[in-house]
Amino acid sequence: MKKIKVLFFLCYVSLFAQEELPDNYFSNPVKIPLVLSGNFGELRNNHFHSGLDIKTQQQSGIPIYAPADGFINRIKVSHFGYGKALYLKHPNGYQTVYAHLKKYGDTIQKFVKNAQYKKESYEIEIFPEANQLRVKKGDLIGYTGNSGSSDGPHLHFEIRDKNSRPMNPLLFGIIIPDTENPIATNLYAYPLTKDSQINQSQNPIKIRLISQKDGSYKAENITAFGKIGFGISTFDQQNGASNKNGVYEIDTFYNGKQNFKVVFEKFSFAETSYINRYIDYKYYKNNKIRIQKLFRESNNPLSIIKNENGNGILDIQHRLNSTYLIKVRDFNKNTIFISIPIIGERPETLTPEITNKTEDFVYTQEGYSITKGKFNIYIPANSLYEDTYLDIDAKVDTLKLHKDVIPLHKKLSISIDISNYNKTDIDKLYIGRLNYKKIPYYIKTFRKGNKLIAKTKKLGTFVLAVDTKNPEIKPINFLNKKWISKNKTLKIKITDDLSGISSYRATINGQFILMEYDYKKDVLTYDFKDQIISEVENNLKLIVIDNVGNNATFESTFYRK
Ligand SMILES: [Zn+2]
Repeated sequence: MKKIKVLFFLCYVSLFAQEELPDNYFSNPVKIPLVLSGNFGELRNNHFHSGLDIKTQQQSGIPIYAPADGFINRIKVSHFGYGKALYLKHPNGYQTVYAHLKKYGDTIQKFVKNAQYKKESYEIEIFPEANQLRVKKGDLIGYTGNSGSSDGPHLHFEIRDKNSRPMNPLLFGIIIPDTENPIATNLYAYPLTKDSQINQSQNPIKIRLISQKDGSYKAENITAFGKIGFGISTFDQQNGASNKNGVYEIDTFYNGKQNFKVVFEKFSFAETSYINRYIDYKYYKNNKIRIQKLFRESNNPLSIIKNENGNGILDIQHRLNSTYLIKVRDFNKNTIFISIPIIGERPETLTPEITNKTEDFVYTQEGYSITKGKFNIYIPANSLYEDTYLDIDAKVDTLKLHKDVIPLHKKLSISIDISNYNKTDIDKLYIGRLNYKKIPYYIKTFRKGNKLIAKTKKLGTFVLAVDTKNPEIKPINFLNKKWISKNKTLKIKITDDLSGISSYRATINGQFILMEYDYKKDVLTYDFKDQIISEVENNLKLIVIDNVGNNATFESTFYRK
């Protein structure tokens, strides 16, 4: 009885979900032609892109209009990430999201400033009640910008379902002209077991693609045996832009039978980091090309994968020829095919798999505590996607923790014994991860007795670093003891050379002023429209603190009437 109920419920849910998508409920949030610099599901660093990146004609300040009635139920302002973000809840249960804004619409902007002055912080997150910031379809709610972790002016726009899962906005009737076929750039084949081979090799192998007149591809013949899988790097372009965006659907067929399918329709934020399991992470780190693996490996629960037959893994038999076909299409159904002729052949000689055997072999399901020199590394269970050798070595203050070619699903913690360290500098120490310029990039570091502890979700080389230099503060558009009545803003440059800026606080005549921090330009800006001052002579004071506690204080007097 119970089973029947569950089955019925499932059918009901899927029927419901199919029918329910409201078409044309949401109008375009901007009144400019929709050209995308990024689309839904495309592959990004550690995540699938959760919305559309709408180009804003290389400028900030394009008005954003509510695409439907609703109310603002969340506002978040942060230095990084989404920058100035706005979340609009609609009566049908969906939520639309707008990120990297320059500023909010007037009413919302006042609400935000109030909250910022109340908390005395630029960074805030608020959840207004349903009756506080109501919005009608077409109301101006904000202006596009480049705030937060954004490389250029654009609007990041999302539609989330009732369960806060981002969905492909194109499913709601938003139209992006696209008559271009997707393009396939790389095809890879992977031998997946000890006795399988591709072209007499046990290593992943690149397969040459030959373009056909109709935009499709034929691969060169391969010989193979045993369990194998394929991977593809592909992108799509839409009309009027050269941006390489993601495709909508990848479908594979083995001897005409459906084998594996990926659809960028929706996903949940809880699964987005599994992108590092889905792509060939090592290949990406070494070649900057993302190959999507068209088979499901262990520890990959991604819901974008559908209709799998045997996890998309092929089992090639000796002396049997077969065909593998990949179909790639964009949202507008522009489609290309890639066909791969496979000759089944049990190998007589094999190029063995390349593995770098080390003394530290890690089983995914177990936790490890590994000590090397002054360092200890704690690897929680299920931090790695598969059992593997790790190359770990410590020399004095440097820890080599493999290389960033193996993805981590959980943070590892690194601790170092600093009991032999010179007492004067001890408070200025931190654990840094060497970036490509070999500079120790600050990782949030805690001190516990004689140990420094930091957590990382990225393998690499870590060092014990010291930062004894104070941040630097330089005014940009005013001078000490001068009249600045015409200034609309106060702009100040703040920099820190090693550990980076952690916090800042500015006052005028002892009263908190809101300064917006643009980390990309190292600039703090105060807007005189905030009307904090009424005096002629004003004393500005700014304190900037870096991540290990070095601080700098800047004071200046200006006159204004
Ligand atoms: Zn975006």
